[in-house]
Amino acid sequence: MKTSSNQIHQTSKTDQSNKSDSKINHITSIIKEAFQQKNFPAVAYRTYEKFKTDLSFVRLTHAIFSTLNKLRGAENRAKFVQEFVDQEMGEVFKDRTVQLLSPCKIGCSACCHTQVSVTNDEAEYLSDLIIQGKKMNWTNLHVQKDAGDDTQKFIKIPYHFRSCIFLNDLNACSIYEDRPLVCRTNSVVGDPSQCKNDDGQFRTQNILNTHKADMMIMGAYLHSPKNGALPSMIWEKLKAKNYQVTSASQHEKISIQKLSDQQKKIDHGKNI
Ligand code: SF4
Repeated sequence: MKTSSNQIHQTSKTDQSNKSDSKINHITSIIKEAFQQKNFPAVAYRTYEKFKTDLSFVRLTHAIFSTLNKLRGAENRAKFVQEFVDQEMGEVFKDRTVQLLSPCKIGCSACCHTQVSVTNDEAEYLSDLIIQGKKMNWTNLHVQKDAGDDTQKFIKIPYHFRSCIFLNDLNACSIYEDRPLVCRTNSVVGDPSQCKNDDGQFRTQNILNTHKADMMIMGAYLHSPKNGALPSMIWEKLKAKNYQVTSASQHEKISIQKLSDQQKKIDHGKNI
């Protein structure tokens, strides 16, 4: 039987597509199994659940995952995904409606008072920056590390001590170029008053759809041997690298009650 070149082309296309479908099915089953241990960021995982049967989206997760397998060095891997996510976010923000609706700006730091997660590579790389002299808030690191990945414990920390260890005095990110993946996609399109969480209440906010970037982030989290909350991950890395965490321990363990008292004084404009 004669086979036309068109048929041959179609056959090879089908073969390729079968191969990538089976890879994608494989990655989908790994993600399902890994859900508990991997601490996927909530928004990215929600996106993944929504698009896990859409091949054009799952391919993004797969492409990031398989490329990370080939790269060496935490910084290289972290930067690789960050660049892709930034590129995608650049596309999202080309939309005039998004520009019009997104109120996020420097100095508005409510989202930097929520629990931020990092991959193992990000924790590795950020702890290296600290060892090289990058300033951060040691007191808040001490306070926040004990919450581990427990969001309920974290939100009980008074607002002032709940700010990210990298948030500076101007309420800006001191590691903007190196900030974690989830910070790069964390934009809202609702009224900024809905971001308020200084009273420990988290309100419903409209967040920007960053589906493609979320699927990429899932690839990075899936590839990572461990993910978790930024403070506890950084703390573990610093200890593992024998960094002088003891000098930071001069900030004695502060009780939540004592922090609450200090927060009240801050709220009343007194020095502590
Ligand atoms: S790393 Fe930067 S952007 Fe992310 S929570 Fe901390 S201060 Fe905010």
